[in-house]
Amino acid sequence: MDLGIKGRRAIVCASSKGLGRACAMALASEGVDVTLTARGAEALTATAHEIRKANPGVTVTEVVGDITTPAGREVVLKACPDPDILVNNAGGPPTGNFRDWTRDDWLKALDANMLTPIELIKATVDGMMARKFGRIVNITSCTVKAPIDSLGLSNGARAGLTGFIAGLARKTVINNVTINALLPGPFATDRTLGPARAEAEKLGITLEQRLVERTKTNPAGRHGKPEELGLFCAFLCGVNAGFITGQNILLDGGAYPGTL
Ligand code: NAP
Repeated sequence: MDLGIKGRRAIVCASSKGLGRACAMALASEGVDVTLTARGAEALTATAHEIRKANPGVTVTEVVGDITTPAGREVVLKACPDPDILVNNAGGPPTGNFRDWTRDDWLKALDANMLTPIELIKATVDGMMARKFGRIVNITSCTVKAPIDSLGLSNGARAGLTGFIAGLARKTVINNVTINALLPGPFATDRTLGPARAEAEKLGITLEQRLVERTKTNPAGRHGKPEELGLFCAFLCGVNAGFITGQNILLDGGAYPGTL
């Protein structure tokens, strides 16, 4: 399927690894020029190299920096001031007990998972609307629909973003600018494989055995593959997805038990 976005420009935040990387890879395979970001230069350069190798016609720009800081955002926007596509992503906040969280912990979570995407949208959405094409995809979490107690910082910050976007997404679509969120369940990325590996070691079992145990209750019986989310992201960024906006789409193997 040709998504009709060849030659478009995308900023894909937090994209040296995991879900962000998969989105960048899928967009590049559609001929989109991608600007990648991450804090660590080494993995970012390796990912940029792989994307270039797989898609020789595409321009891949690497921007090292912390996307959750004003300086980090400034340098990305300088590298790609007029994106047609914006994929918002960053690391998730730590787990814990809300009694231990300070105001500072909350501000960090809000900065990373609510205010950073809003700032990036603010900087880019008017240009998209003026050009009559824009696709914004926020990577949030399945916890937006079904909160996990220990992930309170994430639940709160991402719910704030989701509420704000619900209003804005209905204002931009008149100019062919859509804003949607992808809500991942358990995906096989460093974020989940790292702890699984540590658990396996502690239990004296293999990583594969631990992964089977971890996904026993998931209807699909497995972790999601990052490329499954990346390809869905690319579809949402396609020309024919202009009638989909303000949606929060679960990619969780059916784990959310609701009828709707
Ligand atoms: P991952 O495999 O750990 O990859 C995270 C990527 O983001 C890396 O490239 C990392 O590079 C970059 N990054 C992190 N913080 C950054 C920052 N402040 N500025 C710029 N780049 C940053 O994680 P993932 O599994 O893809 O998760 C992505 C998002 O989805 C997270 O918010 C996570 O909470 C959410 N999520 C994931 C799952 C899952 O099962 N994987 C489920 C629900 C929600 P550097 O470290 O070098 O910066």
